[in-house]
Amino acid sequence: MPTAEQTRARLAEIPNLTLSVDTPLSAYTRFGIGGPADLYVETASVPAFIAALEETRASGLPTVVIGGGTNLIVSDAGFRGIVLRYRGESLKAAGECVTAEAGAVLQDLVDFAIENGLKGLETLAGIPGSVGAAVYGNAGAYGHSISERVVEVRFFDGSEVRTLDNAACRFEYRESIFKKQKDWIIFSADLRLEKSDAAVLHRTAADILKVRNEKFPVTMKCAGSIFKNLLMNDLPGTAAAAVPASAVREGKVPAAWFLEQVGAKGMQHGDIHVATYHANLIYNAGTGTAADLCALIAELKTRVRDRFGLDLQEEVQYVG
Ligand SMILES: Cc1cc2nc3c(=O)[nH]c(=O)nc-3n(C[C@H](O)[C@H](O)[C@H](O)COP(=O)(O)OP(=O)(O)OC[C@H]3O[C@@H](n4cnc5c(N)ncnc54)[C@H](O)[C@@H]3O)c2cc1C
Repeated sequence: MPTAEQTRARLAEIPNLTLSVDTPLSAYTRFGIGGPADLYVETASVPAFIAALEETRASGLPTVVIGGGTNLIVSDAGFRGIVLRYRGESLKAAGECVTAEAGAVLQDLVDFAIENGLKGLETLAGIPGSVGAAVYGNAGAYGHSISERVVEVRFFDGSEVRTLDNAACRFEYRESIFKKQKDWIIFSADLRLEKSDAAVLHRTAADILKVRNEKFPVTMKCAGSIFKNLLMNDLPGTAAAAVPASAVREGKVPAAWFLEQVGAKGMQHGDIHVATYHANLIYNAGTGTAADLCALIAELKTRVRDRFGLDLQEEVQYVG
């Protein structure tokens, strides 16, 4: 097995790949938190990405793939291994079908669809991050998720590049098969949209963006909602009995409702705060650490478990 130094040298020889050592991951997360990665590689080339994965696999070193870092909590110690990011970001339209590379910014895809008079993604306006991660976590807002529009996903399964159709992606609320197969890397997705009036779509997206920017100021160091909302039908009896009908929306209970009952709003651990206006929004006020963030998350989970017998599940993903 090659040493870490030999792996670094081999990665450095791969064309079209950028490599850095001891890279602070705080610069790659919206929380602005996270220690260094031993190695960080990024490329917009599929062959280079696959070559890098093969080298990392041969090395036996741990690997993780990131997108825009808007849904990540990286430990203060960082990541002892190799962090990879696929940066291919092309967007192509053919009739009502759009092909988006995984490294494209989701908002760019939303804008591209609107400019082409294609309806179906405008309610995703303002969700930060990349297309690849949006497919991975079935991102959504305002009652719609990206899965409604996905026809096919192209990904690397560790041996070859394959495609899965929508059903095979096993999309659910903030879930997909890619969350279970952590070593599968998404390269692109085909989406089917509908012809519509670009001006109307633009207004819908602009209205959504205005509301979202008030809730999540663009400079806020956060991950959006920390915890997933809950399906009413999956709630344990004690929790279901406590929820008023007015709190249930489209069969789901916001995690924020439970958090609010246990006094989450305005809670603080070090420089990590729960927003005073939204119990499921945690942000770094400046000098917060991953340790503070995890301690606050653990405290919130304990309070909800003790009061409602319910285990909240994080929507955020952990690295390191
Ligand atoms: C202010 C704010 C508001 C938000 N609002 C919403 C919302 O309304 N709805 C919503 O759904 N989410 C929301 N989010 C969460 C976040 O935007 C989404 O989860 C987004 O899809 C993450 O994208 P990313 O590129 O930053 O991914 P990262 O945070 O970098 O990674 C997230 C996960 O995706 C995996 N991943 C990334 N790229 C690939 C790839 N190519 N192949 C396989 N796996 C990959 C990573 O391994 C990781 O596990 C919000 C976040 C913020 C900061």
